[in-house]
Amino acid sequence: MNTVYEYKKMVQETAQRSYREGLVAGTSGNVSFFDRENNLMYITPSNLDYSVMTPEDIMVTDLCGNVVEGAHKPSSEWRLHAEIYKAKQEVCSVIHTHSPYATGFAIVHEGIPLILVEMLPFLGGDVPVAKFGLPGTDAVGINAAAALQGRNAALLENHGVVATGARCEQAYLRAVYVEDAAKAYHFARLMGKPIEITAEDEEYLRKKYNLPLREC
Ligand code: 13P
Ligand code: ZN
Repeated sequence: MNTVYEYKKMVQETAQRSYREGLVAGTSGNVSFFDRENNLMYITPSNLDYSVMTPEDIMVTDLCGNVVEGAHKPSSEWRLHAEIYKAKQEVCSVIHTHSPYATGFAIVHEGIPLILVEMLPFLGGDVPVAKFGLPGTDAVGINAAAALQGRNAALLENHGVVATGARCEQAYLRAVYVEDAAKAYHFARLMGKPIEITAEDEEYLRKKYNLPLREC
């Protein structure tokens, strides 16, 4: 099996999984992998039914959106993915979802505070909200990249979620943790006043997980 096929398969499998597990509905959301050696982005096609998507449907483009291979239109959010790859050198996979609990917080423009220990190793801390950008524009990516400083995931105002990783599986897992934290936080708010992890405990956990310490 060649590498090109493996990259396409990894993107397609991750996209189908995000559909199966309810992180996206209809044809919303998109997934990509960036091959930094060849400067090629493998990205889901725009508006294609996830249930029939095959590895051959995955589009190959450069970071300017020029199609190198594939019979479809690349995701309309290719600029979101490209801007993150340009801004964060350690990132090789981006997933964008509309997972419902997290998107609820994106619609009220509220981030998810540090309420669960897992948020530190998986997400890098709390989940910030990126300023609104019209879908498909550079602004979505530029605002997301700004919010992703020191974080592996962010909410997109009035839109959804973006999560990053070194590989598709890692980006996917982080998107799952965003939805899990949003759901738990939502229920906690219905039950009473959520208590955030203290700054002192956060500092201890940041050292434990080798994460940069928070600026004061
Ligand atoms: P695409 O089908 O073009 O990837 O768009 C889905 C989406 O979520 C737009 O924000
Ligand atoms: Zn979207």
